[in-house]
Amino acid sequence: MTQVDTLILGAGAAGLFCAKFAAATGGSVLVVDHAKRPADKVRISGGGRCNFTNLYAAPDNYICRNPHFMKSALARYTQWDFIDLLAQHGITWHEKNPEKGLGQLFCDSKSAAIIDMLLHESRAADLRLSTEVGEISHDGTRFTVSLNGQPVQARNLVVATGGKSIPKMGATGIGYQIAAQFGLGVLDTRPGLVPLTFAPHELEWIAPLAGTAIEARVTANGTSFDEALLFTHRGLSGPAILQASNYWREGDTITVDLSPAQNAFEALKAERSHNGRRQMHTALATLFPAKLATALAEKWHLRGNLADQSDKAIQDLANHIHALPLKPTGSEGYRTAEVTLGGVDTDGLSSKTMETKSVSGLYFIGEVVDVTGWLGGYNFQWAWASAAAAGRAIAER
Ligand code: FAD
Repeated sequence: MTQVDTLILGAGAAGLFCAKFAAATGGSVLVVDHAKRPADKVRISGGGRCNFTNLYAAPDNYICRNPHFMKSALARYTQWDFIDLLAQHGITWHEKNPEKGLGQLFCDSKSAAIIDMLLHESRAADLRLSTEVGEISHDGTRFTVSLNGQPVQARNLVVATGGKSIPKMGATGIGYQIAAQFGLGVLDTRPGLVPLTFAPHELEWIAPLAGTAIEARVTANGTSFDEALLFTHRGLSGPAILQASNYWREGDTITVDLSPAQNAFEALKAERSHNGRRQMHTALATLFPAKLATALAEKWHLRGNLADQSDKAIQDLANHIHALPLKPTGSEGYRTAEVTLGGVDTDGLSSKTMETKSVSGLYFIGEVVDVTGWLGGYNFQWAWASAAAAGRAIAER
């Protein structure tokens, strides 16, 4: 029977990065994945340029039932450590829209550069692709895992099989099943960083705007994001909506400020004194793209000229603009979600090593764990940090 020191399930961002550290002291490491290629999500991430980390990554940018859990791992493998590693590999990068101050770092070239780096850094480990993971057992000291029907024994088992998002790309819930098999809690999972969908009566005005984008402030359950909002045929998308989707729960209403940078009351009042004869949709077009201005004028039954509007009417309109309540009926689901919220309950894991408290040698890292980051490189930073935490602990065992 094949025996290794460490078996890592999943050759994604977290699994490959963990292999780098776990193999550093000479222990034998085997990484397996059922996909034909490693790290496919890295390949497609960031529109093909991988938003690999965020300058401002900090625990507050993550959602987890225990808000303290990620502190240790994020502090011990930081965005600066990953940036240093890229420099060693000559991978150049840039901050997207630096004027926005969002700290999102992307490769100058294709995301394949990151995959090549991960493969190089983990070259001391063996990598087996197209490998199905079957039954897993544990005799108290060793794990036996069936790989393509053949048993492999390992002292350490690292589960890095990711979440449920994008099943077409090979995402499965196997990590949650393994957690449950070993008695760990698994918190309810739901799609995150996902477009939101709406009922037909809202789609009546939203869908014709498909393709229109504006800068907006979207608030869900008290958390707000100022980023782009995109109208689609099915509802709303764009970074502001994806971010808010992490905080939205079925049945909740989100609030959209359609003009966060400009006070609509002041702007419309000024417009009234200069161009009072303008029709309402033309007046709104000073704040919004013309198509959206027309749609809003129709939605809110705005009639007549701007000069016909009292201060109160303009104030009411401004209130609508700055706090438009919208009730999504759902999300586009795992088909398009970038991440999975919930997952392996961190109560059962050591925050320093990612090892389970109940089964020695069993680790969970990356997205399978109940830690979900904002949009903007935070999820990869969690993959790197949690992988480094587990890999280093394994190398020291
Ligand atoms: P994954 O990368 O999903 O890796 C899990 C691996 O396990 C996969 O290779 C999978 O094939 C394998 N696996 C699953 N089930 C099995 C099984 N049953 N048997 C064997 N192997 C199995 N995050 C960012 O920070 N920046 C971005 O720019 C970004 N862009 C994204 C774009 C898209 C379209 C998507 C979907 C996600 C994006 N993310 C981004 C999120 C990021 O990709 C994930 O958070 C990250 O990949 C999680 O790493 P992981 O290693 O835990 O899981």
